[in-house]
Amino acid sequence: MAVYTRKGTNPKACPMTYAAPTREQRFVLDVIADLPGLAARPAYANATPDVVDAVLDEAGKLAANVFAPLNRIGDTAHARLADGVVTLPPGFAEAYKLYVEGGWAGLGVPEAHGGQGLPFVVAVAVQEQLTSANMAFALCMMLSQGAIEALAAHASPDLQERYLSKLVTGEWTGTMNLTEPQAGSDVGALKSRAEPVGDGSYRIKGTKIYITWGEHDAADNIVHLVLARLPDAPPGTKGISLFVVPKFLPDGSRNDLKCVGLEHKLGINASPTCTMSFGDHDQCIGWLVGAEGGGMRAMFTMMNNARVQVGLQGVAIAEAATQHALAYARGRVQSAKFGGSREPVRIVEHADVRRTLMTCRALTEASRALVYLNAAAVDRAHAGDAEGAGLADLLTPIAKAWATDIGVEVASLALQVFGGMGYVEETGAAQFLRDARIAPIYEGTNGIQAMDLVGRKLTQDGGAHWREVFAQVRDTVRELEAHPELKTLAPWLDDALAATNTATVWLTGANHPDDIAAGATPYLRMMGLTLGGWLLARQALAAGGHADPAFAAAKVTTARFFAEQLLPQVTALGAGVMRGAALLYAIPEDGLAA
Ligand SMILES: Cc1cc2nc3c(=O)[nH]c(=O)nc-3n(C[C@H](O)[C@H](O)[C@H](O)COP(=O)(O)OP(=O)(O)OC[C@H]3O[C@@H](n4cnc5c(N)ncnc54)[C@H](O)[C@@H]3O)c2cc1C
Repeated sequence: MAVYTRKGTNPKACPMTYAAPTREQRFVLDVIADLPGLAARPAYANATPDVVDAVLDEAGKLAANVFAPLNRIGDTAHARLADGVVTLPPGFAEAYKLYVEGGWAGLGVPEAHGGQGLPFVVAVAVQEQLTSANMAFALCMMLSQGAIEALAAHASPDLQERYLSKLVTGEWTGTMNLTEPQAGSDVGALKSRAEPVGDGSYRIKGTKIYITWGEHDAADNIVHLVLARLPDAPPGTKGISLFVVPKFLPDGSRNDLKCVGLEHKLGINASPTCTMSFGDHDQCIGWLVGAEGGGMRAMFTMMNNARVQVGLQGVAIAEAATQHALAYARGRVQSAKFGGSREPVRIVEHADVRRTLMTCRALTEASRALVYLNAAAVDRAHAGDAEGAGLADLLTPIAKAWATDIGVEVASLALQVFGGMGYVEETGAAQFLRDARIAPIYEGTNGIQAMDLVGRKLTQDGGAHWREVFAQVRDTVRELEAHPELKTLAPWLDDALAATNTATVWLTGANHPDDIAAGATPYLRMMGLTLGGWLLARQALAAGGHADPAFAAAKVTTARFFAEQLLPQVTALGAGVMRGAALLYAIPEDGLAA
């Protein structure tokens, strides 16, 4: 093992290696996502244990050997724009070919559309590995998967024939074009236009900003999904339609669209974030996906997929940053141990560093479990299970926002483990934090997710979904109470559940909209923590049957740490939620900055 004594003494000051946590992922897939239950459904019969094992092993190699070595290169070289052409950092186009050749793009796509018919949650586990290794690169795959899902659900057979098949093989990539300068969180404010040509196609005109992987040189074609308005469309979201707008038209000619700018960003530098101009010469051709005015419905298919996957980015960065920090902490020698001999020790031996690493581990494992549970609920919904659909609806804003907040928090904690070496770029710890920071912003900011949770999801179907989840948490509390070794966990989870229940009842009964909105973000965190503690407790209960006693013991310890050290925050957050908005508007806005 390397010993890190002082900055500069070891040129490999901290190797940025990544090892896919396949054993952990497999356990969560079985115990939390109920993969055996999913595989028992005809739609997911391909997900046999040996197939899933092989998929995770092979994807883990692709992540570690192909994606991870490009992570730093992408961060420093950036995607570049010249004359409308975006060039990816060295090695990216070649790596993309390997991804296509491996058939990875169609993993979670039904066989009827040319995919491998595995559940979404298995594709999510693979995407976690790729994202841990190289988030900026894996974003390309994420957007394409969302485009596949939207076209599979809403496009005509003819459009599917033309565009879906090449997206499923990965030969072409997909994008999602919502945002315009005046239309960010408020998508209904978008102004891009679509005029019927008369032959079934439409002329598209408008400017979209921040379009991820909007232009690049790794694929032969790019399939843009664009939201625009028909001439007589009503204002707001009801007047929005979705169009498929390819970079190259079916006859091979170039469509009238181009990338006119690339953003300079805090992180994910290898991901081209494009300003896209459609129809500069009034010749940009697109085709309607779904019904006229049904754009938001179709786009929501894509966004819900993407929201789970953005939550996953938080998990993935947290995992990679924790692995990286642990490797450093095990080698770096600094200071004698408090109360011990005067001999300096490796920093992993200091209690405070240990606390940091345990916090990273516990938050990462809890958020992984929540995102996988969410993805499995999406699978159940796709298979026609109404309860699964309700659960997916409830969990999506929590998984997106809580897990991405954790990505940032863990990346920051992991950076702290490096001391000064974390703040300088050379170790790569700073890149994790810079990359992670976008995830709470895009795909609906975390503030918007919190509003979705308190404004829509808590009241959906008369509150049936949160009541059902809370009943399941209560069942776990009873199970813990009856367990000889795990009963100490029960009161912590019970208290957190009680506080969350009280805050939920308060929020759903509050009269003033400002009071509900003011509590949204701390309430979402309460939910994340309580559900995270619940899912870790369930893993501790199930770990008894695991073949490796050390793995089982670590699961119990992690659940206890989360319960004893993190769950008590829930009660404190609840107090804030129930204070309403009074103090938020007490100081006039021009006095908010002293
Ligand atoms: C790197 C990057 C990649 C992106 N990729 C894509 C992409 O591929 N496709 C695409 O279409 N877009 C993309 N986006 C756009 C992204 O989704 C938006 O930036 C995001 O939705 C927020 O919109 P905005 O930036 O206009 O912020 P605003 O909507 O102006 O929000 C500013 C602040 O106000 C808050 N706020 C706004 N409305 C409310 C409300 N009703 N209640 C409470 N708070 C509110 C927000 O939470 C936020 O904190 C990307 C952005 C970035 C930076």
